[in-house]
Amino acid sequence: MQLQTEALHAGYDKDTQRTMAVPIYQTTAYEFRDVEHAANLFALKELGNIYTRLNNPTTDVFEKRFATLEGGAAGLATASGMAAIFYAIANAAEAGDNILCARQLYGGTVTQASYTLKRFGIEARYFDVQNPSEIEALVDDKTKVIFFESLTNPSIDVADIAAITAIAQKHGILSIVDNTVATPVLCRPLEHGVDVVVHSASKYTTGQGLAIGGILVERHDLVDFLRANPRYPQFNEPDESYHGLVYVDVPLPLFCLRARLSLLRDLGAVVSPFNSWLFIQGIETLSLRMREHSRNAQAVAEFLESHPKVIKVNYPGLKSNSNYANAQRYFDGGMSSGLLSFVVDDFELAKKIVDATSLFSLVVNIGDSKSIITHPASTTHQQLSAEELVACGVPSGLIRLSIGLEATDDLIADLIQALNA
Ligand SMILES: *Cc1c(COP(=O)(O)O)cnc(C)c1O
Repeated sequence: MQLQTEALHAGYDKDTQRTMAVPIYQTTAYEFRDVEHAANLFALKELGNIYTRLNNPTTDVFEKRFATLEGGAAGLATASGMAAIFYAIANAAEAGDNILCARQLYGGTVTQASYTLKRFGIEARYFDVQNPSEIEALVDDKTKVIFFESLTNPSIDVADIAAITAIAQKHGILSIVDNTVATPVLCRPLEHGVDVVVHSASKYTTGQGLAIGGILVERHDLVDFLRANPRYPQFNEPDESYHGLVYVDVPLPLFCLRARLSLLRDLGAVVSPFNSWLFIQGIETLSLRMREHSRNAQAVAEFLESHPKVIKVNYPGLKSNSNYANAQRYFDGGMSSGLLSFVVDDFELAKKIVDATSLFSLVVNIGDSKSIITHPASTTHQQLSAEELVACGVPSGLIRLSIGLEATDDLIADLIQALNA
């Protein structure tokens, strides 16, 4: 079935009340039929609900539906995108291991990898996502993850996914991709050899900036890759914290199972059932919205490219953009999402333009139906010098836009008056 159909139906068998809308199961715990039933659930002899930190029927629909959209075998929802990234990495790597990360990543992921994971004994080594040939020199027998974003935030690069996963497969290393900005509507990394996809559901999933959440999705047949793979004893040896369970021997998608039974159980960054319900509402219209975000952003990018005060426009849908070929190869239907950036002369002019817009909201978020504008040099990248800003691809005159669902003409009219102010 096609994605837009699955977005409306996947993962939901109508309950006893035959409700059309997925119900919110706002509960902490579930009653067992008897002691034997309880024992069977704990022993995984029978699958069922125990406690909402482990599973919840509303969250289950969100997980199944999102996993279906990604073409994956199973999903695990978390309280935020950062938690999904941490669980995905911590499921693969331990103290003494290292992970290889693209340099072009969401800022929160860079600090998690460079500082917090380091405190847990996991070392992050960085490569240029535009240059996958840098990866092999970083690999050793303690390398457990290659991590990158399909469409990078905020630098707006498109990864050559197949080139990177070919290296991961050659060395038997798990590849994990953050697909937040592209969403499964534009790009399905699992189809290009990726093992695990992670998301911040806080962005395009509700599309209205309503809730924080995250999800990780594993590909089909990941067990064949992990079985007897010397890099991953944790999936092949008994888990003493779960009465000796050996994950490769369980007939269930094992990456999400282990993340649920150990990480979610013990660290507890669980999504609330209400937020799962909001994500389900958002998914119903995700494909319509992504098409419209992309159409609007393409028009705005073309307008900006023709404006005399604009030095450069970064949008993978533009033929002039260095990411155009990768976008054509990996993204569906000529879509490139709503995220773009452009550069004007200097800091002062950028500040003036941002303040002069009226339809755009000054917010450090992306993926909302309402258009957003940000000036990294005065906010997220404030502490960097002008030279450092240029070095990390964020010149002081750079303005980032997350194009929403307003009428294209209104968005362009607002930018025209702001550029002329
Ligand atoms: C926002 C974002 C995150 C973090 O997600 P939260 O839900 O805010 O924790 C991770 N990766 C990317 C690409 C993001 O845009």
